[in-house]
Amino acid sequence: TPFLQISGLRKAYGNLEALRGVDLELRRGEFLCLFGPNGAGKSTLLKIIATLLRPDSGRIRVLDNDLQENPEAYRARLGMVSHQPFVYQDLSLLENLEFYAALYGVKQPRKRALKLLQQVKLIQRCDMPAGDLSRGMQQRLSIARALVNDPELLLLDEPYTGLDEHAARIFGEQLRLLHDNRRTIIMVTHNLRRGMESATRLGILARGRLAYLQEKDQVDPAS
Ligand code: ADP
Ligand code: ADP
Repeated sequence: TPFLQISGLRKAYGNLEALRGVDLELRRGEFLCLFGPNGAGKSTLLKIIATLLRPDSGRIRVLDNDLQENPEAYRARLGMVSHQPFVYQDLSLLENLEFYAALYGVKQPRKRALKLLQQVKLIQRCDMPAGDLSRGMQQRLSIARALVNDPELLLLDEPYTGLDEHAARIFGEQLRLLHDNRRTIIMVTHNLRRGMESATRLGILARGRLAYLQEKDQVDPAS
C-alpha cells in the first residue's frame, strides 16, 4: 500500500482555482521534488498536506490515517520546513528545540534537543541565540525543529531560499542523510540542481495540476 495517498485535491481562493484536481501516491522512503512556475499551486499543495490550509475537496491519507477522519494521528506523522525559518530569535538553539519537543509531548525534551543539534551539526552553538546564526545554520535549525516529533513525512517549501552555495551543499547532505533513514520527503524548490541530486522522483505542477510525474532513474537528462 502507498505511504501517502492524495486524490482529487481542489482548492480555490475566491474565483482563482489554485489546485484543480491533484492525485498523487508515494511509497515510503520516496523523495519527491516538485517544480513548477510561480503561481502553479505548489505552496498551496504543501500547505494542505501540512494541514495549514483546508482543501475544498479531495482526500489525503498517510498509511491508515485519513486527514479528515483523524487529523491528530495524521499530524503526528509529519514535519515541515518552510522558507522562512520559524525559530525564536531570542532563545538559544537548545531552548528553541526543547520548547518544541515539550510542545509535542516528547518525554525527555532536553535529550531529544541535544541529539537533534548533534544531527544537524550545531551542537557547539547550542547556547547561542538563534537570531545570531547565519541563514544556512538557521535553516538547519529549522530542519532539527521539524524532526522533533520524528516525522515519517517531511515537507520542505523552498528550503534553499537565501542559502549560498556552501550552505546549500551542507543542507543537501543533511537531506540525504535523513532520506537514508527511510523518511518520505516532498520538497518544492526552484533549485533544479539541488533538487535533482536529492530526489528519487520528479514532479511538475502547472496551473493547479500535476503535469508530470516520473521516477528520476527514468529521466533522461539529455532530453
Ligand atoms: P506557487 O507556490 O506554485 O507559487 P501558490 O500555491 O503560492 O503557488 O499560489 C497558487 C495561486 O493561488 C497563485 O495564483 C496565488 O496568487 C494564489 N494564492 C495563493 N494564496 C492565496 C491566498 N491566500 N489568497 C488568494 N490567492 C492566493
Ligand atoms: P509562498 O512563497 O509560501 O507561496 P507567498 O510569499 O507567495 O508565500 O505568499 C505569502 C502569503 O500570502 C501566503 O500565505 C499566501 O497564501 C498568501 N498569498 C499568496 N498569493 C496571494 C494572493 N494573490 N492574494 C492573497 N494572498 C496571497
